[in-house]
Amino acid sequence: MKVFDEIESEVQSYARAFPRIFNKAQGEYLYDEDGTQYLDFLAGAGTLNYGHNNPIFKEALLEYIQADGITHGLDLHTKAKREFLETFSEKILKPRDLNYVMQFTGPTGTNAVEAAMKIARKYKGRENIVTFTNGFHGCTVGALAATGNSHHRGAAGTSLAGVSRLPYDGYLGDDIDTTAYLDKVLSDSSSGVDLPAAVMVETVQGEGGINAASIEWLRNLEAVCRKHDVLLIVDDIQAGCGRTGSYFSFEEAGIKPDIVTLSKSLSGYGLPFAVVLMRPELDQWKPGEHNGTFRGNNMAFVTATAAINHYWSDDKFGKEVQRKGEYIEQRLSKIVEEHGDGNMTTRGRGMFRGLNCVSGELADKITGEAFKHGLVIETSGADDHVVKTLCPLTISDENLTRALDIVEAAVAKVLKGSEVPEEHDFFADDSESGKKKEGEVAGAA
Ligand SMILES: *Cc1c(COP(=O)(O)O)cnc(C)c1O
Repeated sequence: MKVFDEIESEVQSYARAFPRIFNKAQGEYLYDEDGTQYLDFLAGAGTLNYGHNNPIFKEALLEYIQADGITHGLDLHTKAKREFLETFSEKILKPRDLNYVMQFTGPTGTNAVEAAMKIARKYKGRENIVTFTNGFHGCTVGALAATGNSHHRGAAGTSLAGVSRLPYDGYLGDDIDTTAYLDKVLSDSSSGVDLPAAVMVETVQGEGGINAASIEWLRNLEAVCRKHDVLLIVDDIQAGCGRTGSYFSFEEAGIKPDIVTLSKSLSGYGLPFAVVLMRPELDQWKPGEHNGTFRGNNMAFVTATAAINHYWSDDKFGKEVQRKGEYIEQRLSKIVEEHGDGNMTTRGRGMFRGLNCVSGELADKITGEAFKHGLVIETSGADDHVVKTLCPLTISDENLTRALDIVEAAVAKVLKGSEVPEEHDFFADDSESGKKKEGEVAGAA
C-alpha cells in the first residue's frame, strides 16, 4: 500500500476497511489486482443500484464515445440531455403525476443539496431550514449545516448556521410522533425555532444508520409542512433510484415533496451526476445564479437514460426489489433471532436494510470477518454500529443468498466463536479472472 500511504491524504475512509487494490468489477462482483473475487455489499454507498459496469448501459456509453458524442458542454443543450429529459419526464414523472422542473447542479450530491437549500430560502425569504437528528446531506458547508454527524461537522472550521435540528422518527422512542413536536414548535412564536423555509428529510437515513421513517410519520410531516406554509424537501440521494422498491422513496407514503434531490444511482453507471427537482413556481433562479462547470454530465445522461428505459418502463423492477428486500429482512431477522446477543435488531425498507449491532466495535468485527470470506460490506450510524446490506438491486438470488450466508456465519463467529462452515469460504466458479487460487480464501491477509 506504499504509494497510498505516501501521497494519498489521510482523509481516505472506505479504503482503510478494505486494504486491497481493486482493479475490475462486474455486476455484484469486485476483483482485486490478484484476481480475487468479492461480492460487493457496499456498492458505492448506494451509487451502484444496477451493479458495476451494467452491460446495457456500457453498450450505450461505448457507442456514444465511439461516435464522438459531447463529453463536456457546460450546460449547452445536447442531444444526450434532450433524450434524458424526455425519458425522465415520460417514464418517471408523468406516470407518478409529478410536475417538476429539473435543475442540473454540480455533479455531487452535496451540490444538489446546496442548490435545494438555496432555492427554498430564496423562494420563502426565510433562512432557517429544519433538518433531523442523524441526517446526512453532504460535506460542503451549507449541506454540512444540515448534516448531524459531529465527525463531519467538526471539520467545517466555520459556523454551521441557518438550520434547526429536530428529532427524526423514532428518536424519542417508538411511541412518540416527533412531527407533533415539530407542529408544536412551529405553532409557538416563543419556541425559539424560527419559521423555516423548508424541512429537509431522508425517508430512510443512510449514513445515519438505516433509520427508516414510518409511512405515517412521512404523511404527518407533509401535513405539518402544509399547515405552516413550509416547503418539504426530500433528499432522495441514497434512498431514491429504486433502493426502497419504488423509483422515489416517498412514493409508498403518497406524499408530494416540493423539492427532491437525486444523485448517487441516478446515472446508473457510477458516473457523477446530480439534480434538483422542484415545483415549477419555485424555479426562481436567475441565469447562472447557481453556476458550475460540470452541471450535467453528458456521459451520465446517456447511461441514466438507458437505466430508466431498461428498468423503469414498467413496475417489474420495483417489484423485484421489494421481493428481494423481503428476503433480506427475513434472513436478517433470522440471524438476530438465532445468533444475536439480545440487543441486535434489523432496520430498513426495501433493499435498504441493516443489522443494528448497537456497538460499533461489534459491527466492525462482523464486517471484518465477512471481508475475510469475500464480502465487502460496511457500517453506518453515529457509532458505525449498523451493518449495511447495500448490494446492487440487480444481484442474483444465488449471490444474495451466498452473501447473507456470509453475514450469518460472521455474526455467529463473532458472537459465539463458532467456526465459519467450509461452504462459506469463498467461491470462484463463474468468473474469468476471479479464480480463487488453491487453498486461498478471499480476503485472508
Ligand atoms: C451521499 C449523500 C449525500 C452527499 O452526496 P455526495 O455525492 O457524497 O456529495 C447527500 N445526501 C444523502 C442522503 C446522501 O446519502
